[in-house]
Amino acid sequence: MSNSIAIDGPAGAGKSTIAKLVAEKLGYIYVDTGAMYRAMALYLIRQHIDRNDTVAIEKACEEADISISFEDGQQVVTLFGENVNGLLRTEEVGNMASVSSTNPVVRSKLVSLQQKLACEKDVVMDGRDIGTVVLPDSKCKIYLTASSKVRAKRRYDELAAKGEPADISRIEADIIERDNRDMTREHSPLRRADDAILIDSSDMTIEEVRDAILLEAGRKL
Ligand code: C5P
Repeated sequence: MSNSIAIDGPAGAGKSTIAKLVAEKLGYIYVDTGAMYRAMALYLIRQHIDRNDTVAIEKACEEADISISFEDGQQVVTLFGENVNGLLRTEEVGNMASVSSTNPVVRSKLVSLQQKLACEKDVVMDGRDIGTVVLPDSKCKIYLTASSKVRAKRRYDELAAKGEPADISRIEADIIERDNRDMTREHSPLRRADDAILIDSSDMTIEEVRDAILLEAGRKL
């Protein structure tokens, strides 16, 4: 049977950075489930579907041909055969994903894809519902969080490094709005699984968080 590490937590807590490092260290595959919700969102945007039009979203979801492969250990998301990795990390796509991911038809399609991947390979998988819904039997579950101020500052620094001007209080307001949507939605809300360990990375370095997760993995797997 394959092994898994399930990492959940709010946007900007550092899940993907840390999950990549842990996967590399253990020789596991890193699966970014947010990228799948983003690929679905990109398709909805391309189809000019209104984010509140549930019927159109569900129809588009059934049609959408999204698949995942791995090249040199890197996840590649394809939409109708097109590699869309480079198009997923915009605010527009993130905001649409935050809304369309509340839809149970969207969730069910992507959860099946995620479970299939975890059956085939040893994975570090990050998202919002990995420990609670996607891999409830995972032996190693982490809930990674940080204060909204710290998360906004990290995002601001990321944008500044790319030369993109941003307003830090706007970023924090967006983060709070997304947290709220993820945590209060009816289907698979973001919450800490009962058997997940809590790591608050607000005052920790990336290496400290990585080592805390590796320690937990060593104990549990
Ligand atoms: O993690 P990331 O910001 O890329 O995720 C984009 C959006 O997809 C999130 O705002 C969240 O609403 C949704 N998501 C989810 N379940 C997951 C992963 C992401 O609902 N497992």
